[in-house]
Amino acid sequence: MVDLDVLCGGPAAALTLAQIHRRCTNLGALWTPTDANVALTVLAAVLVAVCVVIRRVRNEEGVGWVLLGALEGLVYGALAGWFGALAGQILALLLHPAFYGVMMLVFALLAVLIMVGALVQGSGGGIKAVGVLSHLALAGGLVIVAALGFAVPQRRAGNSFETYLLASGVVFWLTAVAGALVVALYRGYHGAVGWLLVPINASWGALGNLLGLMNHLACLFYFKDWGQPAEHRRWYVRYDGGFHLKQGFDFTEGDAMSGNAVETHEATHVLQHFIAGPIYPLSHAAWMALWVVPGVILGAICRTVGKGIVDMTYYNNPWEVMAYAVAGTRNDGAAKQPLIFNEVLAWILAILWIAVATAGLVGFLAARL
Ligand SMILES: [Zn+2]
Repeated sequence: MVDLDVLCGGPAAALTLAQIHRRCTNLGALWTPTDANVALTVLAAVLVAVCVVIRRVRNEEGVGWVLLGALEGLVYGALAGWFGALAGQILALLLHPAFYGVMMLVFALLAVLIMVGALVQGSGGGIKAVGVLSHLALAGGLVIVAALGFAVPQRRAGNSFETYLLASGVVFWLTAVAGALVVALYRGYHGAVGWLLVPINASWGALGNLLGLMNHLACLFYFKDWGQPAEHRRWYVRYDGGFHLKQGFDFTEGDAMSGNAVETHEATHVLQHFIAGPIYPLSHAAWMALWVVPGVILGAICRTVGKGIVDMTYYNNPWEVMAYAVAGTRNDGAAKQPLIFNEVLAWILAILWIAVATAGLVGFLAARL
């Protein structure tokens, strides 16, 4: 955590919000190892390593595995701690506090909805109480960031902004460390790439990791045997008996995959999360929002309203087009499903959509930095 004065290159307390927004984006300064940064990184490393060692010892794994687990936990925890805090501060510095606040409220609402879904669906017993507390803690953290963002005044904004910046850093530190803890405990990432995936998940993938964490919690704390995580060391944690949105459909968010019906398709979504970072969840959701009304109208004409919505928002969604193509299961414009775009149109729109979303992010960064 770096002083706002340092980020602004001078005393910040008397600055207006607009001045902070303009002058204080010296992101390079965030890399300075301050006492707080170092303490949070060490704490994260120790926390993850201790939890991994406890689990390995309880499982009566050999000394070698316990030591390797400790080492992996230290590395993953430290990387997640450092990059998570960094990401939280960058988000708070680059986005307008009101916009960021609204976004955090939407994520908090999703956490509550997934909590309710998992409560209804879950096969676990009393452990569900832990799930509810974890989901509420996650939602609560996001609401606190939102509230502090909304509380930043237009004039003499420095002190309030510093609190908001700190809160955002701490909340994303927590979510990154929680994500790293799950992959370290359940051997989610292959040893050859874990050192790279952990910091990506914590920073570039920070928004996707919020959704991933909601799914991890929904699988771990609401179902028998912790949702039956399979310890396969790929680039995700897969639960055999966890949460899903719809019966028979696998559900993946961030690096958390629930189900085994279409693993290749779901694994593609995890790669999309790592490669496209914030572009993936935001442009996926934007596509869905854009196509709901056309889906209702087209569905009413040629199918049913429900199927029209699913075809337009889901099957034609660029990220789904890609995932179905990778898995070799794409079902375009068949007679029974006239609303699903044919291959050529689907790909043209997919490439255009992702190109526009990427250009949007690049343009935003160019304007802000
Ligand atoms: Zn999919």
